[in-house]
Amino acid sequence: MSEPCKHLLLVGGGHAHVAVLADWIKSGLPCERATLLTPHRMLRYSGMVPGWIAGQYARDEGLVDVGALAARAGVQLLLGPCTGIDPQAGWVKTGGGQVIEYDVVSLDTGGVGRSSRILGKAPKLLDIRPIDRFVERLEKYPLARRIAVVGGGAGGVEIAFALNNRTASPAQVTLVTGAEGLLPTLSSAVRRKVKRELARQNITVIAEDARLEDGQLATASGKVPNQDLIIAALGSGAPAWPAAGGLAVDEDGFIAVDQYQRSISHPNVFATGDVASRQDRSVPHSGVHAVMAGPHLAENLRQVMRGDAPTSVYKPRPASLYLLSTGDGSAILSYGPLAASGRWASKLKAAIDKRWISKYANLANSV
Ligand SMILES: Cc1cc2nc3c(=O)[nH]c(=O)nc-3n(C[C@H](O)[C@H](O)[C@H](O)COP(=O)(O)OP(=O)(O)OC[C@H]3O[C@@H](n4cnc5c(N)ncnc54)[C@H](O)[C@@H]3O)c2cc1C
Repeated sequence: MSEPCKHLLLVGGGHAHVAVLADWIKSGLPCERATLLTPHRMLRYSGMVPGWIAGQYARDEGLVDVGALAARAGVQLLLGPCTGIDPQAGWVKTGGGQVIEYDVVSLDTGGVGRSSRILGKAPKLLDIRPIDRFVERLEKYPLARRIAVVGGGAGGVEIAFALNNRTASPAQVTLVTGAEGLLPTLSSAVRRKVKRELARQNITVIAEDARLEDGQLATASGKVPNQDLIIAALGSGAPAWPAAGGLAVDEDGFIAVDQYQRSISHPNVFATGDVASRQDRSVPHSGVHAVMAGPHLAENLRQVMRGDAPTSVYKPRPASLYLLSTGDGSAILSYGPLAASGRWASKLKAAIDKRWISKYANLANSV
């Protein structure tokens, strides 16, 4: 690309785009005109949702006002979902049918829920994605006593611990991890600690694949008791519209990008966070990576808008820090092969989460 571009479109107010807006607030818009298309003006920081369930935070403590950041950055805000893209013609379509043309587009819309595809459908099944809808729906079940959480990854484990420690009405929780078992991507030392803590808190663990039968959760052994509520924490799925529009995607439908977060099929399309799939190296879908890739995306968009080639590469560290809250004021730390736990780990998690939120809250509110 050699000509400077005029209209830069951000689709999705996700974690990386928050960093892009912050960059524009500090250093100015890199283009004549920029637009943000996202369904809600607030981004909910999912890392604080288990803390809300366990009574550690108020419901809206973990929100970033993306609308205010956009206003401060001089970006036009359009509320609505993107439902289609034509990367050849250079436009996206909104849920209301509006077509928005762009010179460069950056996609940070996160992943979609996978519960109906993997488990089936039932009225009392809640998917943790999208996270805003999950929070709204969970509030409608304050008295659910028997709850199954399906999914043995970090999200499922934290939600299971949180529900078990719900202050208003503690639940009897069953964690159905799938046949892969608990936390298959974390170290055996972390798994041991988590297993011990689940047993101490009387959370039943069933390491089998589940499906829905007549609205109830069933596994091959038939061990899952009847439930008042089923929560699916099955990881991020890919939205259908990127592949349908002709963007190159990986085997799971996530947008295939290079080391600069740039689409491998369309050079004026960028994608970051859970919706993207790095082709040069493996970058797991997690909030940590979405956040850390943000400043690199900001730099690359600035360069491309100037007419230069992008140069900034997000290189994840060999190990990432994960802090799994156990809902009772403690947390389990995971860093590569290392595992540790205690109340200090929970305090560290709270400090990291609050620092991220207040950084952007201060920026949104500063004059
Ligand atoms: C309960 C829970 C706890 C978690 N805890 C952690 C943790 O402690 N650490 C960690 O690293 N990861 C954690 N994760 C994973 C983490 O939440 C995700 O990896 C992270 O949110 C991905 O960020 P993102 O910016 O890609 O997408 P998101 O955070 O999902 O943001 C996407 C944005 O795009 C908007 N959007 C969605 N669809 C559209 C559309 N069609 N058009 C336009 N806009 C759209 C959304 O409204 C949202 O504003 C957790 C996940 C869950 C569910």
